Amino acid sequence: LLIIFDLDDTLIDTSGSITPIKLQDALQRMVDCGLKISDFSEAYEMLRRLDECSESSRQTLAEFIEVIGADLRFFEIGLKEVYENLSPDLPIFPLDQAIEVLIELKQNHDLALVTVGKEHQQLAKMKKAGIDTAFFSKIVVSEERNKKPHYQTIVEELYFSPSDVIVCGDRIHVDLVPARELGFKTVHMKWGRGLNFVNAKSDVDYAISHLTELKQIVTNVL
Ligand SMILES: [Mg+2]
Repeated sequence: LLIIFDLDDTLIDTSGSITPIKLQDALQRMVDCGLKISDFSEAYEMLRRLDECSESSRQTLAEFIEVIGADLRFFEIGLKEVYENLSPDLPIFPLDQAIEVLIELKQNHDLALVTVGKEHQQLAKMKKAGIDTAFFSKIVVSEERNKKPHYQTIVEELYFSPSDVIVCGDRIHVDLVPARELGFKTVHMKWGRGLNFVNAKSDVDYAISHLTELKQIVTNVL
């Protein structure tokens, strides 16, 4: 089989270890650049609340700017801080058992990774989390949110038929809907932002709360 993973909140704990800190950094950066807020910790609390039901940090920042009625240039400043500035001393952790599961699946299957973001930042996050790029036959970092063309290319390049492909990710619309359209099996990782989405049964083939559950699914699909 070919198993294609998402990175953030699927293999690494983005919402736990990165997002809260980056949202705070973004707020600080916006304030440094002239954003007027009456109270930093209140504004930060608002960001956190908005983020709880948001699809991405981008969406969180956009809503925040709209709610407080700030100039759009602050949105760009915050966005750049979140997506392009990764501090060298920010620790990033893999999800529980992620590396063990990759080692085990790699023995009998091809693995690939398709992630949305900036390439240097996504690769730096993997490295910090201890996830070796050598696990993956293909790694695609896309600045566009549309993963479908990348899924298609990978499957063609590695000569898999759609029924032998599994995609595992936390965001149903970004990670799994395009996979389903291509005839792949889909596994919803219910972590981080993945918890914000009600799992309509018809949207995905499997839903898991822990990566180790993937091993059983692979056996079922075979
Ligand atoms: Mg994700």
